[in-house]
Amino acid sequence: MTTPRAASAWDSGIEGRFLAALESVLPGGRPMALHEPLFGGNEWTYVRECIDTGWVSSVGKYVDEFERRLAEVTGSRHAVATVNGTAALHIALKLAGVGPGDEVLVPALSFVATANAVSHCGATPHFVDSSEDTLGLDAGALRDYLASVAERTGGIPRNKVTGRRLAAVVPMHAFGHPADMEGIMAVSADYGIPVVEDAAESLGSIWRGEHTGTLGLFGVLSFNGNKIVTTGGGGAILTQDEALARHAKHITTTAKVPHRWEFLHDEVAWNYRLPNINAALGCAQLEKLEDFLRSKRALAHRYRAAFAGHPDVRFAEEPANCRSNYWLNTVLLRKPSAMMRDRLLTVANDAGFRARPAWTLLNRLPMYVSCPSAPLPVAERLAEAIINLPSSPVIALGGKS
Ligand SMILES: *Cc1c(COP(=O)(O)O)cnc(C)c1O
Repeated sequence: MTTPRAASAWDSGIEGRFLAALESVLPGGRPMALHEPLFGGNEWTYVRECIDTGWVSSVGKYVDEFERRLAEVTGSRHAVATVNGTAALHIALKLAGVGPGDEVLVPALSFVATANAVSHCGATPHFVDSSEDTLGLDAGALRDYLASVAERTGGIPRNKVTGRRLAAVVPMHAFGHPADMEGIMAVSADYGIPVVEDAAESLGSIWRGEHTGTLGLFGVLSFNGNKIVTTGGGGAILTQDEALARHAKHITTTAKVPHRWEFLHDEVAWNYRLPNINAALGCAQLEKLEDFLRSKRALAHRYRAAFAGHPDVRFAEEPANCRSNYWLNTVLLRKPSAMMRDRLLTVANDAGFRARPAWTLLNRLPMYVSCPSAPLPVAERLAEAIINLPSSPVIALGGKS
């Protein structure tokens, strides 16, 4: 797997230094995924119970239990489980009032699902810049930008250029690091725009004592296979509003009116429910969340030490007054360069370490190139600087120490 390298000037260069730091943290001998799940608890017991009893699908006790446990873990008043995080974001945006012809402010530096969920509402994503400190939406840049492009007519916030309503702001907590919620909530409130947090990556991340995803009108979680807790595939909508929670549950479960036998459905709705067998997996995984968080913090600590004072890259620290879940550990090139980033990705991957870049900026994807966008100087630099490192909890348990 690892090809022996000739001792040369190459080794003392930027690639050699990067690989040496990685090798001081990561065990060699087998490929290291970017993030793989860990099943060491009651997963098999709970899943087997679903199969033994036949309750694998839309009915069963684990969905309710999973929702109850999610609310407990996040401190959210309500949690509604869904089939995946994208579905959760779609419904959260819809219930926040996003509809056809609207615009939704989203960071260009995010996973494609953030913009896709906006499109699923018939709305247009409107891209905004990110912050060097949090890697999430930059509240200051958003405020300056809205001052030039937004106006309120009849109490309704609009894009002056397109005339479309600005219907929501979607901060995303990138790689688990909480975005600047104080700034984002303040500027959004000034314009009367609701906030829907994409907290897909940040289960277990705390912003000033509050769990990410519980500060906006809605927050959204993902339990995809690569997230900190997995249900195979799954998601959840968090909200503090009981009526919104009830409505979210209703339209993610075909809007069926309870009745002993009749099939009555009272609005157009979705089959976005989380199957019981996936919820069973989730219940077992949530029991391990604290262990995962501890492992990830320990791994982050090792990466921080390995890259301390490194001449070429810096380790991405959790923002001040926050506790990040360190879902993915990130280093950033001190001099952003897509070419250098790709050279470092090449040496890491050749050595079996599946390091990855950040996402291609959403405004560069073919379906979103013509969407409105703020200037994105920071997001463009970050996209050329970010390298995400193997971050599975198992590395901290079994790796070098
Ligand atoms: C994973 C993720 C999602 C979507 O989650 P799925 O469960 O895969 O649909 C949304 N936004 C971000 C930022 C994500 O990382």
